[in-house]
Amino acid sequence: MNSPRTVAFSKNATNVFFHILTACNLRCRHCYINPSQHGAESLDIDTIIAWLNEFTGKENLPNVIFLGGEPTLHPELPLAVKHARRLGYQSITIDTNGYLFHDILNCLNPDDVDFFSFSLDGATPSVNDSLRGDGSYHICLKGIRQAVSRGFNTSLIYTVSSANLHELEKMPELLANMGIRRFFIQVVGIRGKSAQAVAFEPDRINQVSPDQWLREVPAVAQKAAMMGISVTYPRVFLKPGEPFECAGRVADNYFIFPNGRVYQCPLCEDYPLHSKIFVNNRLISTPGINETDLFKLDIPEGCVMNRIIQPGNIRYLPDGSPEYRIACCLLKEEICGG
Ligand code: SF4
Ligand code: SF4
Repeated sequence: MNSPRTVAFSKNATNVFFHILTACNLRCRHCYINPSQHGAESLDIDTIIAWLNEFTGKENLPNVIFLGGEPTLHPELPLAVKHARRLGYQSITIDTNGYLFHDILNCLNPDDVDFFSFSLDGATPSVNDSLRGDGSYHICLKGIRQAVSRGFNTSLIYTVSSANLHELEKMPELLANMGIRRFFIQVVGIRGKSAQAVAFEPDRINQVSPDQWLREVPAVAQKAAMMGISVTYPRVFLKPGEPFECAGRVADNYFIFPNGRVYQCPLCEDYPLHSKIFVNNRLISTPGINETDLFKLDIPEGCVMNRIIQPGNIRYLPDGSPEYRIACCLLKEEICGG
């Protein structure tokens, strides 16, 4: 049996999560994109290139993940990918909903990109399509098959919520049958559309309880690993005595949006709390109060932003102290397949 490994934050990795546009053909019920905070524009290729260039002077070669919206809606994504490769980015990933616009698989070679990462939120069309839209399940599977048959490495992202936890256990077989190499299990965030849905809305998507998460997710990850698939999932709950670290203090992550905002913490993305911004294609720090002021706070609940925006996942003991601390959402467990 493989053992999960907690992946500590590395000061030796720079990760660039690059939302090159926010437009999307889908309307997923839990979408975290918030155009009023992230912009509605599509970056032109000169801007994308200039912003990619900003991360190359670092000691560590950066990794880039191209995101949207749906990044394959951008007709010049292949140019952006090839530029990142020329610059020596350590790894290049394209996150996609599987529609693979602009014939992207024929515009790139498997050497150009390290992973196509597909988002699917159910093991069956009924569950996935109820979250992501009619027809999206079959189109995503078709896209995966095409990518695998053309020699691209593929991974899959499954965002766990109260609406699809029950199908997570069916995912390892599906991944193995499709030839997918890596599996990312995420927890739905109460941000973007999920935050805007009112609490009494009948089809509101909720986070799962700590008990459900701990009962289901590590076991499914283990099952997938036994089938040769590498699995990554967020730590979420810390055991008593385990150290808490905020990635904003110790890691080097950049979540870039088309309006130029750059965050270090994804949970801050619904607010104008970004610590950096692109001005005239140069990355500069923002003045005044921003997310870095929150990163410095030590609270018994662990992650400050979790306490502010999604406190429903914290339980308290009769003396008022939290039963457990919430880990940084960027702290992951990893099980290597094989
Ligand atoms: S595919 Fe992604 S960007 Fe598009 S609506 Fe769904 S979650 Fe949002
Ligand atoms: S999720 Fe919490 S712990 Fe992680 S960077 Fe944000 S504020 Fe810090």
